[in-house]
Amino acid sequence: MMITDLVLLELSGEFDTAQMPRSRERSALPMDAYGNGGSGSGGSGSGGSGSGGSGSGGSGSGGTAATPDNGPARRRVTQVYLEVRTNDEGLSGLFGPVDGAHAALLRQEIRQAVLGTDPLASERIWDQVLRSNRHGRSGYSMMALSALDCALWDLKGKAFGVPVYRLLGGPTRDSIPAYASMLGFPLETEELQQTVSAYRDLGYTAQKWFFRYGPGQGPDGLARNVEFVRAARAAIGDDHRLMVDAFNSWDAAYAIEVGRRIADCRPFWLEEPVPVDRLHALRAIRTATGIPVATGEHCYTRWQVKQLLDSEAADVVQSDPDWCGGISELVKIAALCSAYDVPLVPHGHSLHAALHVAAASSPTVVPMVEFLVLHQRHKQAFMKEFLEPERGVLRLPEAPGLGIELDSSKIHSRRELP
Ligand SMILES: [Mg+2]
Repeated sequence: MMITDLVLLELSGEFDTAQMPRSRERSALPMDAYGNGGSGSGGSGSGGSGSGGSGSGGSGSGGTAATPDNGPARRRVTQVYLEVRTNDEGLSGLFGPVDGAHAALLRQEIRQAVLGTDPLASERIWDQVLRSNRHGRSGYSMMALSALDCALWDLKGKAFGVPVYRLLGGPTRDSIPAYASMLGFPLETEELQQTVSAYRDLGYTAQKWFFRYGPGQGPDGLARNVEFVRAARAAIGDDHRLMVDAFNSWDAAYAIEVGRRIADCRPFWLEEPVPVDRLHALRAIRTATGIPVATGEHCYTRWQVKQLLDSEAADVVQSDPDWCGGISELVKIAALCSAYDVPLVPHGHSLHAALHVAAASSPTVVPMVEFLVLHQRHKQAFMKEFLEPERGVLRLPEAPGLGIELDSSKIHSRRELP
């Protein structure tokens, strides 16, 4: 069998916002350091429109930083999927959405490199693509390789007629716990507390909420950050897990000050208080506050994760198979985390791929996955089945491959990118 083409399919459709609710609040953003965080426009300079708008989610710093969106009741969605075609009639691999600058890399560079190669030999393809570009060890290049790797695993599952987690040695469990990731929900106290209670009642035993303010909003923003954690803890109760996320928007001093003031709320983790390459700052924050630090979604490959672990900079690693190097790399990162006794809780950009790796890992190594409550509706817009937790757990897909199947009735227009 050999690869005959890599095709990028651009799909467009219109959806009712009743089925696909819009984000109504955004998280703190790194650009808020310039002080405009109160205006709601802090994300405009980030280069990424965030998943609340285009759903690109992978571009710039807008990975999970939604901008509020109060547009019309119908929502137009355009997404790109990667299809790996082979000379084996009817056998192809599918992965997506793949929206962002890395789609162009797949089309312009990677396609030529893999035409004619054996798609089942995914380890060889991964290694050769990495070796072929000395600038390709992170960022968009690694995101492009991640998409290809995930599509190859989908193809492999279809070739052998089993779900991907079976090829990886799973299932280790019948279902995988998911935590509710609450990006995009309003933070005003009364509504926040109602939402926290509602998701607790839905069966989620863990929720993650996003700080809205950073150092650029001064003492008032800091007080509001603290107040929001107190309100969330009061609503979720003592027995459930509450995680908080600063989306790379703070500095170490600010994180330590907030951390000390919310420590009695017992956050299960504090996520991305500073960018992931500030290893000393991350370590200082976890040491000074006593709050576990989670990070790693913006870290690429096993080698960068090893630096994070060697530096004792993280209590929880959050690699995303959509970005870190694909399913192949996430499996290696899981083994690495296991050796350091640090849990891997994959970031939720690519829910299907993360779920298959979790389903093939010990529950002690990958205890749960992230479910972005508002944004998964958008990410899975063109899929036949909506993969979502019930009572806080995800059932394992049984279809061969990743279980991503496009629903033609949702696709108004479709074209292959040239
Ligand atoms: Mg995050």
